[in-house]
Parts: sequence; structure tokens; C-alpha cells
Amino acid sequence: MVYLHVPFCRSFCTYCDFYSELCGGDASFRTYADAVCEEIAGREEEIRTSREVDTLYVGGGTPSVLPLDVLSRIVGEIIRARGGVRDFWEFTVEVNPEDIFEKGEAYVSSLRHMGADRISMGIQSFDDPLLRWMNRRHDSARALEAFRTLRRAGVGNISIDLIFGMPQLTDEIWMRTLETALDLSPEHISAYQLSVEPGSALARMESLGTWTAASETQCMQQYGMLCEALSEAGYHHYEVSNFARPGFEAVHNSAYWRRVPYVGLGPGAHSLSGNVRRWNSQHMPSYSYESETLSPEQVRLETIMLSLRTDTGISEDFLREGTDNQSVDRLLGEGALVRADGRLCIPEDRFFVSDEIIRELV
Ligand code: SF4
Repeated sequence: MVYLHVPFCRSFCTYCDFYSELCGGDASFRTYADAVCEEIAGREEEIRTSREVDTLYVGGGTPSVLPLDVLSRIVGEIIRARGGVRDFWEFTVEVNPEDIFEKGEAYVSSLRHMGADRISMGIQSFDDPLLRWMNRRHDSARALEAFRTLRRAGVGNISIDLIFGMPQLTDEIWMRTLETALDLSPEHISAYQLSVEPGSALARMESLGTWTAASETQCMQQYGMLCEALSEAGYHHYEVSNFARPGFEAVHNSAYWRRVPYVGLGPGAHSLSGNVRRWNSQHMPSYSYESETLSPEQVRLETIMLSLRTDTGISEDFLREGTDNQSVDRLLGEGALVRADGRLCIPEDRFFVSDEIIRELV
């Protein structure tokens, strides 16, 4: 598994705290590519042996702001480091709807030609006032047109991102958003509850008292609407925030939740190899890295936290070893955990409070 972080955005969204720099023009893209190619050259062995799950995920930031030749050069270097193996089980590129609208079908065809077979598009909402509040670049009409552009270019695996839980998102707007999303029939939908991330514009607004989070009741109601609408439409709810048409569950993300080793390239990217975590510094154009060795207990807790957010849960034996068994039994008795084939899972109707359930166990 290889993850490439593209730390550029044309503007910053209200809620976001991902590492990204404002696009600085062609020279900065090329300097970035030089730095990443140098990193690839130094990590060839890791890249070559990181094929237990053989995926490439290009995320950000906004990968679709990169000129094609820059992305193509980096992907070419990754392939070279893999000994020339061009095929991935899954090759995802995150895109912004406005970039797809502006660059059109030819751009998407070029991504496909490069090997990308899955596109993840950050639509977030189909409500224009909300999109403006989020400081997104696109509006609803452009998101719809961008989606059609992806389809016209032959993309058969599209994931879209949505956000709920803003105080101004009424249930009516949310239902319309879900209906619009389902009309498009994407293969995959990720829907996240808005959270206040330290360092985001939203955190500043909250500390200044100019913004107040939605109530827990509203968020729970909208999560329920999401689960019901997508289940009726035949989506598999396989992780707290992720839904897929059967067979289109994200291979890369699913492996990440199982703690499969991955190589993260680019400034700000993280990597995992066994119990060693590495993170590249958030600095352009040159970046360094630090690493830490996780203790067996840290690995155990991380495994529990990631696994219990998925519908396959965790092995009961694994969970019980080192965990307070009284808590496990109590959660089972309350229906907050259920048994299936020797595994324990959080049932879908408790996914909304999964963080609280997991906290009781770790
Ligand atoms: S949400 Fe995406 S486009 Fe918006 S600032 Fe964050 S990384 Fe950039």
C-alpha cells in the first residue's frame, strides 16, 4: 500500500486541518515532485515490499490541482520502485469537483490512462449556502456536472464525500442532499459528521464565539437518516462513516483499518511498518521524518479502535485478552456489542456512539 500526500489547495475549507499549502504555481509543484521523487528513490525497498495489499492512494490536500505531467512523473517513479509493476488492485485519486469541471473529460481520461481506477470526489453538500459557508470552491451545479464528467470519461468506481452535523443543516436539506447523492448512484459514499479540528478556521470561530456546534440530538438524527436512506438504496455500511455498493468497499482504506503496513510519501504523510510508525514533517519543499516504535499495548489499543469501527469488528479472543472482561460482558448484555462468527462488533444502530463504546474498552 502506498499513500501519496499532495499538500496543495487553492483555498482552505472552514472545517479542515489537513496539512496543505496554498497553491504557489508551477514552480512549487515541480519542487514538490523533485522532493517526492527523491524520497521514493530512498525508500525503494519499502515500496517494493509493501504489496501485501497492492494499492495506491493519492490524497491531500487536493491532488487534482497538480499538473498531469507532475503527477505522472511521481506515479512513474513509484512504478519504477515497484520493479515496473504497473497494475494496482486499486488506484484512487482524490479530486475536487471544481477542478473536474474546469479540466474536463480529457483530464479524467488521462488519470485513467495513468492507471487510476477509483476517483474520490469531495462534494460535501449539494446545498449552495452550506458550500459557501464551508468555503468550498464549487457549487452544487458544478458538483453534479463534475460527477457526470467522471462517468462520461468512463470512471466506474466513484466515491463521494458528504458532511452532516452543521447547525444550519436542517433535516430537509440533509434529506435532499442524500436524495441527490443517491440519484447519482455512486459506488461509494463517505459521510462524516462535522468535527471541530484544532487549527481549523472552525476552531477559531468557535473560540471567538461566532459559531456553535449542532446539538448531539441533531447529529444523531441526521446520522440515522443517512443509515436508513443508504441501507434502503442497497449500500453496505461497512465502517462508521463509509458505505459501498457490494463489491466496491475501499480496498486501501479497509486495509488501513486492519493495520496493514503502508508507505506514506510526501510532506505530512504517515507510514506504518509492523510496530514502527513514521511521519514526514509538514514542510515544503524539503521535509524530514521522525519515527516511533509502538509498544505492544499501543498496537493492541490501536487495533481495537480501528477494528470496532468496521462491521467485521474484532476477534473476541483478541479483545478479551488484556481488556476488562466485565466491560465486554456488560456491553454484550446491553447490545452495544454483538457476536458473529467468533468476533465482536458494534451493531449499526450503535455506530453513532461507537467512540463512547470503544472508550469503555481501551
Ligand atoms: S478539505 Fe480538502 S480542499 Fe478543503 S482545505 Fe482541506 S484538503 Fe484542502
